Amino acid sequence: EERQITDINTILEELLLLHERQLQENDVKVVRDLTEGLEPVMASKNQLRQVFLNVIANARDAMQEGGTFTITSRAQGDFIYIDLADTGVGIPEENLSKIFDTFFTTKGSVQGVGLGLSVCYGFIRDHGGDIKVHSEPGEGTTFTVSLPIYRPEE
Ligand code: ADP
Ligand code: MG
Repeated sequence: EERQITDINTILEELLLLHERQLQENDVKVVRDLTEGLEPVMASKNQLRQVFLNVIANARDAMQEGGTFTITSRAQGDFIYIDLADTGVGIPEENLSKIFDTFFTTKGSVQGVGLGLSVCYGFIRDHGGDIKVHSEPGEGTTFTVSLPIYRPEE
């Protein structure tokens, strides 16, 4: 996949433009906390879209009764961090170590559209980044994606 100098906020805004209405129809409020003027990353835009789209779809699935989905972008040190937080059902402790495994799902087999977290994780690791998850059952889940800032002078 071809990599380009990429503005993370643009990727996130484009995805929200396509999917915010559907979230709102499911009583999910979308909150943006995007830091302006972030430095770019060097990335496959397609792969990043697929990663964030899967996290958004998972958040929607986790908030059947509605809730709040908060997307934050920020820079720290040499990385851009994107936090995607839902107020959904959460992930039981015993599943936390499995969610990045190929084929792991707690959903019916009908749902198997799109890429799972294992593929997302592979894409992000391939970019020199990481995905971390924090979850409290009954409270919600936050995925934090990190990607190295592109600084060509170094
Ligand atoms: P799929 O969405 O097809 O089940 P994923 O790899 O995207 O596959 O996710 C694997 C599993 O991780 C899900 O089936 C679900 O149990 C859990 N999961 C992922 N994201 C969330 C979330 N935001 N809230 C609760 N559970 C989640
Ligand atoms: Mg999924």
